[in-house]
Amino acid sequence: MPVTGLPPYDDANIFARILRGEIPARKVHEDAHALAFHDINPQAPVHVLVIPKGRYVSVADFAATASAEEIAGFWRAVAKVAKDLGLEGPGYRVLMNMGRDGGQEVPHFHVHIFGGRPLGRMVA
Ligand code: C5P
Repeated sequence: MPVTGLPPYDDANIFARILRGEIPARKVHEDAHALAFHDINPQAPVHVLVIPKGRYVSVADFAATASAEEIAGFWRAVAKVAKDLGLEGPGYRVLMNMGRDGGQEVPHFHVHIFGGRPLGRMVA
């Protein structure tokens, strides 16, 4: 049981299917711990999702149950993807949604990287 209010991990979720290669994705990076691909419904000129390879429902689940190596590898991948996409100089935003009130649609932990234009001050 994940340590969140979300249901247990569902191997049929869309990102699990992308990880298994059952659904195509425009990949930008893949390593032992993470996969990054372009969001199909981009909200900025650059909108990439980074997901861990392990079965984690949410950030809470990931933080509580992933190994230190997985957590470090995942966040290093996030920073590398942003840098490789040319976002490190101008800057970018990393966002994660968690659970119902956070608006999380896909129950496999992921972060959004947004960039390519001034994003303004973030408000909830
Ligand atoms: O954080 P949240 O779960 O709301 O975001 C899910 C994201 O996954 C959305 O931005 C959606 O466009 C994206 N998505 C995708 N490819 C899919 C299904 C969803 O990029 N096949």
